[in-house]
Amino acid sequence: MSKPSPILSGLQLKCGNCGEGKLFKSYLKLNDACPVCGRKMDSGDTADGPAFFVGFGVLILTAPFIFIVPMISMPVWIKIITFAVLCGVVIGLILLLLPIAKAILLNLQLHHDATEVKATDVDGDANAS
Ligand SMILES: [Zn+2]
Repeated sequence: MSKPSPILSGLQLKCGNCGEGKLFKSYLKLNDACPVCGRKMDSGDTADGPAFFVGFGVLILTAPFIFIVPMISMPVWIKIITFAVLCGVVIGLILLLLPIAKAILLNLQLHHDATEVKATDVDGDANAS
């Protein structure tokens, strides 16, 4: 059985090893291991990566509206409602995309056996030259 794509299985919030098991036991809380194939989830750590990518992406998508809305001539109460709707869209997009980004990054880390760089890894190269 070939492994599924870590990105496609991440989009479905599924395990990147089997493509069937759920990654999360709650909103952003990972299962300890895949319920289907048993792959350990604790060897991957996405840290702030998902929050950075989602926050940055949503900011790029919505920032133009933050500058355009005050420049349009319309009553103040419509501007206030527009900003409230814009805030709702930003929060909704972030809450929607955060688990997906975390699932993709975790699946990519585990797929490529990414590990943390240690000081001994860097020292080995420095002494060789
Ligand atoms: Zn699995």
